[in-house]
Amino acid sequence: MSTLSIIIPCYNEEAVIMESYRRTKAVVDNLPIHATIIYVNDGSTDRTRELLNGIAAADARVSIIHFSRNFGHQPAVTAGIHHCRADLAIIMDADLQDPPELIPDILALREKEAANVVYCVRSSRKGDQLFKRATAKAFYRLMNAMSVVQFPLDAGDFRLIDRKVMNEFGRLKEHGKYIRGLISWIGFKQVPFYYRHEARAAGTTKYPLSKMIRFATLALVYFSNKPLRLAMGLGFTAVVVGLILTVWFALGKIYGFSHAESGWTSTITIITFFGGVQLLTVGMLGHYIGVLFDEVKARPEYIIDELVQPDKEDEA
Ligand code: UDP
Ligand code: MG
Repeated sequence: MSTLSIIIPCYNEEAVIMESYRRTKAVVDNLPIHATIIYVNDGSTDRTRELLNGIAAADARVSIIHFSRNFGHQPAVTAGIHHCRADLAIIMDADLQDPPELIPDILALREKEAANVVYCVRSSRKGDQLFKRATAKAFYRLMNAMSVVQFPLDAGDFRLIDRKVMNEFGRLKEHGKYIRGLISWIGFKQVPFYYRHEARAAGTTKYPLSKMIRFATLALVYFSNKPLRLAMGLGFTAVVVGLILTVWFALGKIYGFSHAESGWTSTITIITFFGGVQLLTVGMLGHYIGVLFDEVKARPEYIIDELVQPDKEDEA
């Protein structure tokens, strides 16, 4: 008989965490398999810590990983996977946008398809603002255009993974983890599960635009070197255009069909344009070097302040 852990990252979720636990517990109580909940408190500065400790004190199936500060959503999920000892794990948000009531259906689908991964696809995102929906849609399509691996469209981190996938995930050495991408990349049998993404039950999003941009850049840089090739393409185009212009103006000077000396507008346009292209490509290169720098330093992805009721193996 298999066991399940539900991994839930939380950052300043005091407004929703009790309701989230209540609904998750109701599901866990009625599952045919033994299930535990792993909350990862990602350095919350509100009452999330106390509320979670209260939940764990009353429920032996709940364990908590308290981070030393806010490390971000992806490191929080990573810690949850690293500390999971069950045969299966389901990754879920704390805000009830991913309804815990779907867990039995997800488990049933895994069983029926003998799948290693069940990734949940948002067939409707009625809970999200138009801006978020549009940017997310564009992002998933851009990722597939840029990346060497193909990712399922419109799937977040809400998914079930089995022990095989967790073990392989544990072997990944990179520190910047784009988890949904890595799980696609790991492979094995992956099947989609379509669901309706609900509105946040309470509280506000912990993903402001700045975090969304950082997240999208991480995904792009870690899964694609196409931006670098694009930069090379731009450089090549610039050289060709430059050569043609040189020949054109030189011949024009000799045969008198061009009036280069009166071409202030074209000169300024070309200087500005190619100046911009150069800075852009240098910036792009710089970003990859920055990522390399971070990876070379190899700092841990997260630092744990305290483990509350960890699975037995963790205590060793
Ligand atoms: N989260 C986290 N650390 C962060 C930001 C978010 O652990 O730095 C958690 C958050 O508590 C939630 C999940 O990640 O459980 C998704 O965040 P949110 O619902 O705010 O994002 P959205 O659904 O608006 O994209
Ligand atoms: Mg949310």
